[in-house]
Formats: sequence, C-alpha cells, structure tokens
Amino acid sequence: MKNIIFIAPPAAGKGTQSAIIENKYNLPHISTGDIFREESKKDTELGRYIAEVLSNGGLVKDEITYDLLTKRLSCEDCKNGYVLDGFPRNIEQAYKYDEILKKLHQELGYVIMLDIPLDTLEKRITGRRICKDCGTVYNINSNLEKPTVESICDKCNGRLYQRNDDNITSFKQRYNLYIEKTKPLLDYYKEKGILYVINGDDTVTNIAKKIDEVLKEGM
Ligand SMILES: [Zn+2]
Repeated sequence: MKNIIFIAPPAAGKGTQSAIIENKYNLPHISTGDIFREESKKDTELGRYIAEVLSNGGLVKDEITYDLLTKRLSCEDCKNGYVLDGFPRNIEQAYKYDEILKKLHQELGYVIMLDIPLDTLEKRITGRRICKDCGTVYNINSNLEKPTVESICDKCNGRLYQRNDDNITSFKQRYNLYIEKTKPLLDYYKEKGILYVINGDDTVTNIAKKIDEVLKEGM
C-alpha cells in the first residue's frame, strides 16, 4: 500500500514529482479540487451546492469535504495507494485525515517533503520564462535550463514571456502561508516517523530517484 502525501513549498516541483510517481506505480492522483469539480457536475442537491461554492470562489464546508474524500479514498482504484494532493493543508485537516484512514482501515503511508532553500525558489520563480508559441519552459537563472538567447525559444524561435504570477511578491505570500500552515504538519508527521525529507534542490531525475528509494524501502 502506497498512500503518499507530498508536502512542498510553491515552485518546488511537487506536480512534476507526483506525476512521475503516479505513472511509475500506477497510482491515482487524488485532489479535493478534482473531487469537487466532479461532484459539481451532478444534478443533486450536493452537486448544486458545490457548483455554487466553486463559482463564487468560496470554500466547501469541511464536513462535506471530509465525506467526499472518504468516499473517493474508498474507491477500488485506491486500494494499492494513491497520491493525495493539496490535503491535508493544516493540522486540523491532518487530524481529520487520521480519522478518515482509521474508518477505511488504511495507513498513513508516506509523507514526502521536498526541501528547497528559499533563495533557490526565488531564482526559479523570477527566472521562469515560457515560450508563447510552443509552451516550452525555460529558466534564465539556471545554467541547465536557460535559452541560448534570453528572450527567444531554442526550439521554435518564439518569444518568451513571464507569467503574471511569477513575481516575488505573490510568491512570498504563498511561501509564507505555506510555512505557517505546514510547519505544524511536518512536526506532526515527523513524530509519527513517516516524514521523509528529500533535497529538492536537484534535477528532476535525481529527486525522482530519491523518492523511489524511499518508497522501495517501505515495500
Ligand atoms: Zn517555442
């Protein structure tokens, strides 16, 4: 059983790594966002409630979130494990997640943290450039990922642009929120002996290899 939670600051490469693990171990990717979107399509009282909350940009009530998550995690495709994305986000949700797992007779599994220094993340954020034609992502602050000419795509000669939310101010806000909310989570899982801290200041391949070693060890 491989129940996996990834914890990582914004821009740490969490999405990339979870996709690699999901493919490799054939695990479903579970996110509360996906669960809500799926539910909101249904013509039921609950579906209509969620559709309304989503369209208003609000938050779905905790009890409903927990019920839907419990239902999703009890599905057949989760019996060998899953990668849980965006949950738990804070310590209250972590306690609740414990209850859900107990109810489902499942184990916590692995909590994998990608650890990256703040200044490395800042360089990634401010250096990220995307080709407007083919979507290739570059980083002008990284020797490995920078384009030959700063504003031109190596592959198609398209113009490179910077995303609006790739700026230090919005990044710092997200980062501070992450630190504030997840620090207690990390302490909590460390105490349970299931927290694996992986150096995320490395190549995608090397990080994936290290995660793989953690998961193999626990098989
Ligand atoms: Zn291009």
